[in-house]
Order: sequence, then C-alpha cells, then structure tokens
Amino acid sequence: MSFDSLGLNAELLRAVSEKGYSKPTPIQQQAIPLVLEGRDLMGGAQTGTGKTAGFTLPLLQRLMDSDKPRKGRRPIRALVLTPTRELAAQVHESVQMYGRYLPLKSAVVFGGVSINPQKQKLIRGVDILVATPGRLLDHVGQRSADLSNIDILVLDEADRMLDMGFIHDIRKVLALLPKQKQTLLFSATFSDDIKKLANGLMHSPALIEVAQRNTTAERVTQVIHPVDKSRKRELLSFLIGSQNWKQVLVFTRTKHGANRLSEQLGKDGITAAAIHGNKSQGARTRALAEFKSGKIRVLVATDIAARGLDIDQLPHVVNFELPNVAEDYVHRIGRTGRAGNEGEAMSLVCVDELKLLKDIERLIKREITSDIIDGFAPDPSIKAQPIKNGRSAQPQRKKKNKKPARPGKYARNRNAGNQKDGNRADSPWNNNGDRQRSRRDAA
Ligand code: AMP
Repeated sequence: MSFDSLGLNAELLRAVSEKGYSKPTPIQQQAIPLVLEGRDLMGGAQTGTGKTAGFTLPLLQRLMDSDKPRKGRRPIRALVLTPTRELAAQVHESVQMYGRYLPLKSAVVFGGVSINPQKQKLIRGVDILVATPGRLLDHVGQRSADLSNIDILVLDEADRMLDMGFIHDIRKVLALLPKQKQTLLFSATFSDDIKKLANGLMHSPALIEVAQRNTTAERVTQVIHPVDKSRKRELLSFLIGSQNWKQVLVFTRTKHGANRLSEQLGKDGITAAAIHGNKSQGARTRALAEFKSGKIRVLVATDIAARGLDIDQLPHVVNFELPNVAEDYVHRIGRTGRAGNEGEAMSLVCVDELKLLKDIERLIKREITSDIIDGFAPDPSIKAQPIKNGRSAQPQRKKKNKKPARPGKYARNRNAGNQKDGNRADSPWNNNGDRQRSRRDAA
C-alpha cells in the first residue's frame, strides 16, 4: 500500500515524500482513512509505530477541508494534548513538517519555559495547538487560549497522562471543549481508567490496534548483564569504552541517580548529560540537541523525561537500573530499533532487581539472554535488598540465611554462573549449587 491510496491531498503527499517515507506504517494505513471520514478513534499504539503521522496527516487535511474565510483572529480548531514537553515539541515538529505546504498555523505550549512568547503566538492566531495539560490551563486562565472552537481533539499517550496524574487537568480541559467534535485517543494500554475516560468522551469510536512493542521489537536485541550494584557504573564505562559506543541512552530510576551517573561518566572521560523533570526546559532541550548531534555520547534519562523521545537511529539503550514498572521496560527499549533500524538494549541487573526482571520477562513473554561480562561476575554472597522508593536499599550487606530472591535464574541461561563462588547452594545467581562458568569467563 502507498500513501497515495489513503485519500490525502497533494500538499501532504509532497511533505511525506520529502520526509522519505515510502509506505504507510500499519497504524497509518488504518488510522488515516478513518480520521478522514470523521470517525472518533481509539488507537492502541506506542511511540515508534508512526502514530504521530497517523493522526497529524488526516487532521491537517480535515482542517483544510473545513477551512472557511473568516474575519479576525483564527480560532484554535485542533488541540493535541500530550503528557510531556518533549513529546509536545516532537508532535509540533511533525505538525509543522507535514503541514509545510499548507496555509495552517500551529503552536506548542508547555510548562517550564516563559509563558509570554507562547501567549504572543496564540494571540496572533493558530489553527492547531499542541499542549501539555497544565500549561494549556494557564493559557485558558490568562485568556490567551480559547478552546470553544475545537473541532478535533487528540489525546496522545493517554495512559501516560493518567499515570502522571493529569486526569483532573484533562477533565478541566474537556469541560471547555464543544460537545460536538472528533476525538482521537492514542494509548499504549487500555486500562479501566482509559476506558472510563473514553466512554464519556467518544461516540462509537473505531478501535485500531497495532502490535505492541513487546511483540514487535524483534529488531531490538535484548540482553542482561548480571553485575553487583556497586560495580554498575564501572561496567557501563567499560562497555561504552571497549565497544566504542558513540550514542547511548541510559535509564536510571531516579533524577538524583541520573545526575550522579552523568557526573561519574564525565569523570571517566565519557561525555554525558542528564535529562529529567527537575532540569529546566532549556537544559533538557540543549542536552537532547547535543546528544542528537553527537557532541555528547551518553544521555542519562529517567522514564518520564525519555517518554516520546524520538532519536533517529539510536543504536544502544542501557537500563542502568530496571524500572519499577515492567511496562516502562518496553517503552525504554522502544527508543532503539525504530523505523526499521537495528538496536541493542542491555540491562545491568543486580541481585536486588531479580524480581523486577521476572516481572518484565512475564510481560514480554520471554526470558532475556543473560551474559556475564568477564571480570564483572556478581558476588554470590551478596543477598537481595528491597528496592525502596525507587531506589535499592543502601548499602548492600551480606546477610546470613536469607532466602535467595530467585534461585537458579541465571543458571538457566546459557552464560550463567559466577567466577567467585559458583558452588554456593544458597546463591541467588546460581542453580542448585552446580558450578557454572560464563562463556566469557571460560574463554
Ligand atoms: P512515532 O511513532 O509517530 O513517534 O514515529 C516513529 C518514527 O517513525 C519517527 O521517527 C517517524 O519519523 C518515523 N515514521 C513515521 N511514519 C513513517 C513511515 N511511513 N515510514 C518510515 N518512517 C516513519
């Protein structure tokens, strides 16, 4: 199937072809005709599937088709709500790019930056507004945004907006919109809360779902490297240096952890920057730009900051710490292997995280290959400590007679084993006390 057969106008087809897309992705094939028909839509799709073009292209066309000459300021006719500033900025870039041959105007508003330039832009009039919910309400409060003429509403990454506690803001925004409108809701998951939100909002929506990343990420090679928590940073520097990685996105569980790791990597001579919610928008934008341009090799991010990041041909994603929520693993590794490229996702897993690993493997319905890096085999005498408040309890103490978190797990993997004391029957990294050696150790 080609883009030409989807019913898009010549200006949009030109922009798409200049972007270099040869054929629509599955979500685009399904969504574009439905949106052009004016249907409400619930799309089960994550970032990386091409969903942005899936809603932006027909949205632009519908605005063109319903455009009429009017006096005075143009009203906002399409509103796209996103959970994060980064995603808002990226969606707006897409709106500008796909709409470059159309006479439509657009703006993006999000918090963390001065409101005044945004106000001035809005006051001049825009057809399409991309916004995060909180800042949008600020504009409504200050009368720089009027939502009473919205024809098309898009809720992008609705599940994440709810996870981030935006439901009240979203409900306030919804109350300001006309009853009669077209609504498109995209979400990676359809929890009861999402269904509740959709029920009150949409009229017999078309349902489309494309394969989730956890089943489509075949292009992403996944591996875990068992290692002691205290040696993770050292292992990461070793992997980056020895394999000469030029661009690697690293995930930590906490903002503090992201800052600390980025500083430590700097001390190891590896250029790095951290990106998370406590950084100013300017710092986040700069870090991302430097990372994309190759000026810095490592971007250390928390889950929320990285949500929606679209980095072309990102080859490596590292989970410095596993996420507390298994679904976040799928989002994280989805940063690589995008748009047909190969990608590699590796996780540095310490004994405290074996339970999290098990949750992830249950979600993705497969066991991830384990590979102990020579010289970094975990010490089997270290027992699992609970991970509290997103962080593992400090320091790792050697406790006696504590039940291992996951006996035998690594011994089932082809490279299982440990160097130091492989025959300890109580080691969580071991299987029934069999002495095993990793492939690299044995070599
Ligand atoms: P999205 O899921 O919207 O974040 O898009 C993921 C990536 O796929 C982005 O880098 C898009 O530029 C790219 N993309 C979107 N549509 C296509 C297409 N039809 N062919 C190739 N790449 C695409």
